[in-house]
Amino acid sequence: MDIFSKIAAGEIPSYKCAENEEFYAFLDINPLVKGHTLVIPRREVDYIFDMEDDEIGRYQQFAKKVAVAIKTAFPCVKVAEVVLGLEVPHAHIHLIPMQSEADVDFKREKLSLPAEEMKQIADKIYAEFVK
Ligand code: 5GP
Repeated sequence: MDIFSKIAAGEIPSYKCAENEEFYAFLDINPLVKGHTLVIPRREVDYIFDMEDDEIGRYQQFAKKVAVAIKTAFPCVKVAEVVLGLEVPHAHIHLIPMQSEADVDFKREKLSLPAEEMKQIADKIYAEFVK
């Protein structure tokens, strides 16, 4: 199992923001801004565009609900959706609450927040998530 599959299965701890039978959302461990969330399929699939149309549709619908929860919990201009990176071979959508485009610059220094604050952020998003 890859690392994100283990996270979705609860074998590796994460700060859970939302979940359903098919998808799982959790805080990026090194967020660009507070509320930076990763959305993944539980199924092991590396490349998002290898997903069938139906599945990618459900994935986007789930990501939209997570984005709505993020925007309520962390008011922002928009929630950016970004798919990039080759680091982890498991499809993941980055959802990033942004006040300006600078918030979505992946070259800038990432945050490292205390565990208690990460938990508070995740709980805030989870409380706003509507299945
Ligand atoms: P990418 O493939 O998008 O470049 O990088 C993967 C993203 O996942 C990075 O933003 C990184 O901080 C995050 N990440 C990598 N490993 C873990 C992990 O074990 N837990 C969490 N919560 N995030 C991770």
